[in-house]
Amino acid sequence: MAPAALRLPDPRVAQFPLPFASNGPQIFVHEGARQALERRFTAAFSRPIQLAITDNRRRMVTYAEAGGTLRLRLHMMFLGAPDEVLDALVSYVREDAREASQRLGEFIQANRHRIRASRTVQGPLRTRGRVHDLVEILAGVNDRYFGSSVTDVLITWGRRSRPRQGRRSAIKLGSYSAAERLIRIHPALDQDWVPRYFVSYVVFHELLHHLFPGELRRGRVILHSAEFLRREAEFRHYTRALEWERKHLARLLGAK
Ligand SMILES: [Zn+2]
Repeated sequence: MAPAALRLPDPRVAQFPLPFASNGPQIFVHEGARQALERRFTAAFSRPIQLAITDNRRRMVTYAEAGGTLRLRLHMMFLGAPDEVLDALVSYVREDAREASQRLGEFIQANRHRIRASRTVQGPLRTRGRVHDLVEILAGVNDRYFGSSVTDVLITWGRRSRPRQGRRSAIKLGSYSAAERLIRIHPALDQDWVPRYFVSYVVFHELLHHLFPGELRRGRVILHSAEFLRREAEFRHYTRALEWERKHLARLLGAK
C-alpha cells in the first residue's frame, strides 16, 4: 500500500499566514477517545493500527504501511466523527473507494472551521485593558491548569461578531472562535469592580472550548459536553465565580 493523503479540497487555506507560535504542543487529544478509535480501526482492518491524531492544516488523512502495521494519521476532527464517516474512512484506506473519498471530502468541508487558523484574525488584538491585562490572566490560567502548554491560542478584548442563542449569561461575556483560534473577552469585564478571578473564570471557560472542540452527537455539536462541564468545575473559584456573576449580572448588563 502506497502512502496516501487526502487533502483539503480548497488549497487557498494554505495561503493564510499562521499567527501563532509553532513550538510546543499544538493539540490536546483525549487519550481515551484516541485509543477507542484505534481499537475500532484495529478491528475493522484485522491488523495492528497505529493511530496518531494531528492538527495538520492540509492533510486530513494520511496512511502508510510499515512492517505489517498500518500507520494512520487523522485530523482531530475525526475524533467525534459519526459512524458512517468512520466506515467511509475504512473503505477509503482499504480500497481507495471513490464514494468513500467523496463522503470524507464532504465531512472535511463541513468541519473546516476546526482546521487550525483557517481565517486570519480581523483587526488588531487588544490585550491590555484599563484594569485587567488579558495576557497576564491567560498566562496564569494556562500555567495553573495546563502547565503552560497551550501555545496556539490568541486573546483580545472584544465583543463577539455574531450573537449566539441558548448560552448561559457568563458565556456571553466571552467567546471563542475556532476559525481564528481567538478568545474574545467582553469589555464590560474591564472594570475595577470586576474581580480578576471572575475574568480568569471566563478566560478558562473559553480556553476549554479551544481544547475541547465539541462532540458530535446525532448530527449535533455539543459544546458543553459532560467532560467539558467536569473540567470547568475544576476551576479554583468555580462556585465563587458563578455566585459573583449571579449577583452582578444586572450591573454587567448595564455596563455593556
Ligand atoms: Zn461555552
